[in-house]
Amino acid sequence: MRITFLGAVRTVTGSMHLVETGLNDIVAGRGSAGGSRFLLDCGLFQGHREEAARINGTLPFDASSLEAVVLSHAHLDHCGNLPTLLRNGFRGSIYCTPATRDLAALVLHDSAKVQHQDARHVSKIRARTGLPPVTPLYTANEVDRTIGRFRPVPYHEPFRLGPARVTFYDAGHILGSAITMVEADERTLGFTGDLGRPGEAILRDPEIPPGLDVLVMESTYGNRAHKPLDGAAERLGAIVRETAARGGAVLIPSFAVGRTQDITYALHRLRNAGAIPSIPTIVDSPMAVDATEIFRRHPECFDDDTRAMLAHEDPFGFKGLRYVREVDDSKSLNDLTDPFIVIATSGMCESGRILYHLAHRVGDARCSLVIVSFQAEHTLGRRLAGGASTVRIFGEPHEVRLQIHQLAEFSAHADGEELLAWVARVPRVGRIYCVHGEEAGSLALAAALRVRGYAADVPVRGQQVDAAPS
Ligand SMILES: [Zn+2]
Ligand SMILES: [Zn+2]
Repeated sequence: MRITFLGAVRTVTGSMHLVETGLNDIVAGRGSAGGSRFLLDCGLFQGHREEAARINGTLPFDASSLEAVVLSHAHLDHCGNLPTLLRNGFRGSIYCTPATRDLAALVLHDSAKVQHQDARHVSKIRARTGLPPVTPLYTANEVDRTIGRFRPVPYHEPFRLGPARVTFYDAGHILGSAITMVEADERTLGFTGDLGRPGEAILRDPEIPPGLDVLVMESTYGNRAHKPLDGAAERLGAIVRETAARGGAVLIPSFAVGRTQDITYALHRLRNAGAIPSIPTIVDSPMAVDATEIFRRHPECFDDDTRAMLAHEDPFGFKGLRYVREVDDSKSLNDLTDPFIVIATSGMCESGRILYHLAHRVGDARCSLVIVSFQAEHTLGRRLAGGASTVRIFGEPHEVRLQIHQLAEFSAHADGEELLAWVARVPRVGRIYCVHGEEAGSLALAAALRVRGYAADVPVRGQQVDAAPS
C-alpha cells in the first residue's frame, strides 16, 4: 500500500491523498486488475485567487485511472474539488456516510454558485483591459453529476475497493464526519479526516479505530490548547448577558454547516436554563437554514443528550429564534436598535452576510463579536481576532470598537492535547503523518508525538510513502 500526500500538507485546505493498493500486481506489469487506486478526500484549496485556480484546476494524476474517492466529511476543504475530478474523466464512485452525502450536495451547490458569481465579477474587471473572461472551476450541472456518483455507506459497515476493505468510524467533527480505515496488502491505514472534540454538543465523541500501521492525522490545532468544553456555553451566556445589558448586538460569524447548529443548540440550552435574556436570535444564512434541515434528517448521528432532547423539542429551534433566507430580511436587521444575536456566514468573515453586519456595527462599542471557529491567515476574522484597530470591509476603512471574544472551545477540531490523547487510545500505531495544519501546528504535533515515542513526520506535498510489508 502506497500513500501520496497531495493536499492539506503544511496547510489547512485542499485535503487530498492518493492510496494505491495491490502494488505488486501493478509493478509486475499485470495492470491494476489486482490493485486499486483511490483518493481520500478531494477538497478545494482555498487561498489567493490565482494560486487557488491553478492548484484546484490541475490534478496531479490521471483522474480516469481512479477507482473511487472516499470522502471523510462535507466541508469544502475536503469535498470541494470533486466536480473537477469528473470534468477530468473520473468514472468511479464516491463513498461517504449518508449525512455527508446530503451535506456535501448542499456545500457543492453553494460552491458552484460562489464560483459562478466570482468568475462573472473577475471577467468584468478583465474585460476593461481587454483580457479574456475566466470560467468557473465547475458548474451546477457538474455538481449534479458528482452527486450522482455518491454511494452512502453507514458507519461500521465495511465495503470493498478492489483488494482493500474500507470502514468508516465516527470522527465527531461535523454531522456525518468519518475516520476512514483501509485494510489492504496486510496493512492497515487510518485517516482521521478532521477530528472533533470529545464532549462536544450534538455529536458523539470521536471513535477509536483498531490498531493501525499508518495513521494520517489532522493537526489544525496541533500547537494550541482550547479551554475545556464544560463552561463554553456559560462563557457564551455571559457575553450575551453583558452585551444585552449594554444595549448592543452579538455578532457570531459561523460556518453554515456545523458551527451554526452548535451555537443554536447552545443558545437553546442557555435559554431553557434562563441564563440569557429572551432577545431575538437570528440565523442569517440561507445555507445554514438548509444545513439545519439536513441535521434534522439525520438523528442517527446525534449523541444521547441530543436524541433525548429530540423526543420532546426541536434542538435547533426555540421561541425568538428566526432563520432568515431573504436578503431583504437580512438587511432589515440593520434597523434593529435593541439587543439581538445574529449568527451569519462566513465563519472567517471573508464573505457572506456577516460582512454587512460588521460594516454596520464594527464601530459600536456596545456590540460584541464572538469568534467560535478557526480563523485562517490573511482573513478578516484573523485580523479582528488579532486585535486590529482598523479593518477594511468592502474596501472601506472601519475603526474597530466592538468587543471581540474568542471562544475557540466551540471549535469542531480537537486541540493539541486532545489529539495526543486520542492517539494514545488507538491500540497500536506504527507511523504517523501529520497533515491538515499550518506548518507550525503540524510540526508541533509531530514533535509532541515523537516525545511520546511515536514515529511521526510532517510530509511535504507530493511525497510518497510506502506502507507495504517490509
Ligand atoms: Zn472539517
Ligand atoms: Zn478540514
